Amino acid sequence: MTQARSPIPRRSRVAVRVGAVAVGGDAPIVVQSMTNTDTADIAATVAQVAELAQAGSELVRITVNNEEAAAAVPAIRERLAARGVSVPLIGDFHFNGHRLLSKYPACAELLDKYRINPGNVGRGRKKDEQFATIVEIACRHDKPVRIGVNWGSLDQELAARLMDDNARLPEPQPAGEVMHEAMIVSALDSAARAEEIGLGHDRIILSVKMSGVQDLIAVYRKLAARCEYPLHLGLTEAGMGSKGIVASTAALAVLLQEGIGDTIRISLTPEPGGSRSREVIVAQEILQAMGLRSFTPAVVACPGCGRTSSDYFQHLAQQIQGYLREQMPLWRGRYPGVEELTVAVMGCVVNGPGESKQAHIGISLPGTGEIPVAPVYVDGAKTVTLKGENIAAEFQQIVTDYVIRRYGGREHIAG
Ligand code: SF4
Repeated sequence: MTQARSPIPRRSRVAVRVGAVAVGGDAPIVVQSMTNTDTADIAATVAQVAELAQAGSELVRITVNNEEAAAAVPAIRERLAARGVSVPLIGDFHFNGHRLLSKYPACAELLDKYRINPGNVGRGRKKDEQFATIVEIACRHDKPVRIGVNWGSLDQELAARLMDDNARLPEPQPAGEVMHEAMIVSALDSAARAEEIGLGHDRIILSVKMSGVQDLIAVYRKLAARCEYPLHLGLTEAGMGSKGIVASTAALAVLLQEGIGDTIRISLTPEPGGSRSREVIVAQEILQAMGLRSFTPAVVACPGCGRTSSDYFQHLAQQIQGYLREQMPLWRGRYPGVEELTVAVMGCVVNGPGESKQAHIGISLPGTGEIPVAPVYVDGAKTVTLKGENIAAEFQQIVTDYVIRRYGGREHIAG
């Protein structure tokens, strides 16, 4: 896939390899997602990982929460390979990761990265021992580790200690500031400890996820200023539907614009029965809207107004957008660069011709009272005027022909 070069200098200076995918440094910002199947249900997990990978997830995390899940990892990897899916798999460990990774070496070997949460590794002296066990296993198998601090499971001993220290200051900081500091200290101290144990500086990714937009922005800004590790961004517990999408976008856009963030995940609660791939599509759309990467041809469509009382253009915009997204798994390999295509679907003559000329291909549908014809523009020039019952099918064919002609390479042009 061709990616638009980020115009924004990135803050992280270290690149970490996760399987075949680079995270950080000059690498494109990586889209990742997480399954919500029971990992021990091999068929369901394989199906969902494949679906997420097909949607464009470049890393997929699975929970490894018990022995059955750890034991299932080799079969999951094998069945994915049989389906031609090679997306790197990340194991998410809490509480018992040290035991599972020790007891199931094939799981440790076949995962491409481990995620550990310093707040959920263990308590007291056991915490250090269990953390060390996981890191030693990562070193032995040459696996990167994400040290993923989460607001909801922050190391309580650390938080209490920083709160006490703060209370003794002549001018104590607000409690929120101290909690941000606790998140950052938890991540940085854990990273330093992992390096002491032997994990490479270039085998560590950090995250400090929070559920409030302003908290997330503040804490990542501070973390980015204090380290050079690649950062995994995500608003945790973002919520459902438009609320989750808007909150995630608001938080991540600010940080990405400042060059902060090397891999992103959108933690959406799916609608009942909804597709898990939604979080992948939203992540891609954020990066594409910001001009940081291109994944799928963009459909520019006007919102409609009283000048177009018919909803025909809405249906056409939806149909073209769905068609382009459906084609992408095939087109991505066959027509390099197609993800940068823009298609305009406009509702009337007011902005229709102008916007259509700016796109690679555009159609200006007739508004109320206009002559019922739809001029089509290709590379800024009017080429044909469609009318009648088959406008949608004919326009789709024009788009397809353009893709083959422009992105198809010599053999397609010759053919
Ligand atoms: S292009 Fe026409 S229909 Fe669409 S929003 Fe503008 S004025 Fe309304």
